[in-house]
Amino acid sequence: MTEEISYPVINKELCKGCMRCIVGCPQNAILLSDDMNDAGYQFAYYSGNGCTGCKDCYFTCPEPLALEVHQYKKIVNDSVAKMIKAKAAGKGGK
Ligand code: SF4
Ligand code: SF4
Repeated sequence: MTEEISYPVINKELCKGCMRCIVGCPQNAILLSDDMNDAGYQFAYYSGNGCTGCKDCYFTCPEPLALEVHQYKKIVNDSVAKMIKAKAAGKGGK
């Protein structure tokens, strides 16, 4: 069994602090930093919680490469994870 993990990755030096992603996130998962980047803009950052992977932030950001949404599948069933680890260990040992 797997669980999908999603989170936004924001390049703070490319962010111009327009707040579109902050306003657009239905989970209120993106915040605006009090600090400034090298260009003098306050930048957006992920709160660390709540992202569902809807990608609204990605599609609303006007700055190329400032914001991406990363997703991966995590194995949550321990017995399956143990089986995969055991198989990998077996292969590595031969
Ligand atoms: S992908 Fe959706 S839920 Fe996740 S941070 Fe972006 S707008 Fe918010
Ligand atoms: S929409 Fe893009 S440029 Fe605007 S605050 Fe969010 S990451 Fe920064």
